[in-house]
Amino acid sequence: MMPNLVLALSGGIGGAKLALGLSRILPARDLLIVANTGDDFEHLGLAISPDIDTLMYALAGLDNQELGWGRRDETWSFMETLARLGGADWFRLGDRDLAVHVERTRRLRLGETLSAITADFCRRLSIGPRVLPMSDDPVRTRLRTEEGWLDFQDYFVRLRCRPRVREIIFTGAAEARAQPDFLTALLSEQLRAVVICPSNPFISVEPILALPGVRAAIASCQAPVIAVSPIIAGRAVKGPTAKMMIELGITPGAASVAERYGNLLDGYVIDSNDAAEAANLGPHVTLAPTLMTTLADRERLASVVLEAADALR
Ligand code: GDP
Repeated sequence: MMPNLVLALSGGIGGAKLALGLSRILPARDLLIVANTGDDFEHLGLAISPDIDTLMYALAGLDNQELGWGRRDETWSFMETLARLGGADWFRLGDRDLAVHVERTRRLRLGETLSAITADFCRRLSIGPRVLPMSDDPVRTRLRTEEGWLDFQDYFVRLRCRPRVREIIFTGAAEARAQPDFLTALLSEQLRAVVICPSNPFISVEPILALPGVRAAIASCQAPVIAVSPIIAGRAVKGPTAKMMIELGITPGAASVAERYGNLLDGYVIDSNDAAEAANLGPHVTLAPTLMTTLADRERLASVVLEAADALR
């Protein structure tokens, strides 16, 4: 039997776009999406998992297209009331979104795992493919900046990625266990491809790779490993990926992302605009339009990625 399982590693916005494309062209049981949880944090007493939620909302068709984050048809009564009372309003929590965090927090406190809660939320939101947190243990991304050490959301949301980044660490990663189903999938003979989504390598993909055993399992899995560049023509489509590269002394470009993943990659999909970079790249390169604006763009890119991966078998 042909291997049929596609394992996608994803952060939030960029990753969720490709994950949605994959979900539209694959049977639900053939797609497993592993979400970064390094962005997770506790805020207002709530357990917030931004990348899991971005994936859930995108896969359920509940994502807010105008804002580019959060939920569709959102209202803000909670936030307005909180601000009026002098509460912390720098992290915007819409009313509908809030319910997810409240319920997740309640169930975590009762001892359920983040994986079990996520699986149940996905079922209730009629999401077909599995969304798996990279780990059920806490991992927290922290950044050393010119303003000192910052927690991820302080940097990302409160300070809008303004401080220059010097170093990024994943607190707890060395002691955390990768989600067992994630490792099992990497060992599976049914594995068709590992897809590294066009997510920020530093803060979305590297936390996943930092978990014990993950890099080795990806390196030795029998399926092709293929990434999509989150950088198009030297720039990030959204967010601080290119800015971080400059601050970390790396040339912003598709080639630099591939270099970060090193020998993990068998194949790499870069944007047609970046053909000039293909020559400098180690892994097998596929050129394609990689800007995902419409749903059709997402599906097309997902097909390109799977075809390129299958050609590497
Ligand atoms: P975050 O966790 O919400 O920051 O999201 P990700 O890490 O998954 O995604 C951020 C990255 O996605 C950025 O580097 C963007 O350049 C990239 N990105 C967003 N949209 C697209 C797109 O349509 N095409 C490509 N190739 N990259 C994208």
